[in-house]
Amino acid sequence: MKIIMNTMETVANKTILFLAVILMLAAPVFAQTGASIKTVVIDPGHGGKDPGAVGKNSKEKDIALSIALKLGEYITSKCQGIKVVYTRKKDVFVPLAKRAEIANSANADMFISVHINSSTNKEAYGTSSHVYGFCFNLDMKTLSLQENNAVKFEENYLDEYGDWETVSEIKTMSSFTSSPLANQGKQLAEKIQNEFETRAKRYNRGVEYASFLVLKRTQMPAVLVECGFISNEEEEKFMASTYGQEILASAIFRAFRDYNGSSSQPEPTKSNICFRIQLKSLSKQIPLNSSELKGIPNIEELHINGKYQYVVGKETDYKKITDQLANIRKQIPDAFVIAVRNGTEKVDIKVAKKELGQ
Ligand SMILES: [Zn+2]
Repeated sequence: MKIIMNTMETVANKTILFLAVILMLAAPVFAQTGASIKTVVIDPGHGGKDPGAVGKNSKEKDIALSIALKLGEYITSKCQGIKVVYTRKKDVFVPLAKRAEIANSANADMFISVHINSSTNKEAYGTSSHVYGFCFNLDMKTLSLQENNAVKFEENYLDEYGDWETVSEIKTMSSFTSSPLANQGKQLAEKIQNEFETRAKRYNRGVEYASFLVLKRTQMPAVLVECGFISNEEEEKFMASTYGQEILASAIFRAFRDYNGSSSQPEPTKSNICFRIQLKSLSKQIPLNSSELKGIPNIEELHINGKYQYVVGKETDYKKITDQLANIRKQIPDAFVIAVRNGTEKVDIKVAKKELGQ
């Protein structure tokens, strides 16, 4: 009886999940006005002779391909005018450098690489998204090595990629993490993790920098998504199932759609003034993930009067920015609102308010 009940519950759960996917996809599609993405490259990890991580009953290369194809279908059918390019659509081996080359030659505006995680700890579970950068913790270093191991299926991989763990590499990375490309990738990564957690109900392990070779060579914002752990029995089952793949793909899709709708700059006002929250003003440049900036998402770096200004928020309504300030001050108590003209010049708040008619 218990077994029957469990089976019935599972069927019910599946139905709910299925309906949830339909509802999520049926949500109104935002008008593509101001859409910045014209071409997105979707990169299913591994393939062919490289199985990626291997679970009890499935392989990373197959699950990643299914999720990636579903993601591409959603984008093609729901976002008019966006071209989807895949690095592979079948079970074939594609070298990492070739994947980046496909994205670069397609002039892509976004690169999304789909992977499945694995750990020797069978209990480990959850989703994470990554942008290219210096690995701050051992887990990320291990994960990078795990994913970069794909190159070992390539001949002469040392000639092609060199030793990617050298010190000079790490230096290049830390300057990269503060670049606008890394920042845009991070914005999408954060949206993906948010969707995974709130709507797909997957455990959120967060957004982290990792030194994935495939991300290193792409010349556009790029995110690598780890959809769960194949080494965890329950998560493997979920990811190997069609409904699990639909849930995961639709979460990435919604994040992408949201990113695309919101990544355009706010309509410039007549005077090109907007309010920002200043976190730090420094004479030296620091990476956006510096501990001084407390891990606050979507930080931008401005150059004003020879200083590096680290800011968040962008509003033309003074009230809205002060609402955001309250939250930011919980992490950085001395943050305050500034008014900026054309992104390059500070303006007195009173003058800005007057110009904006407030
Ligand atoms: Zn992988």
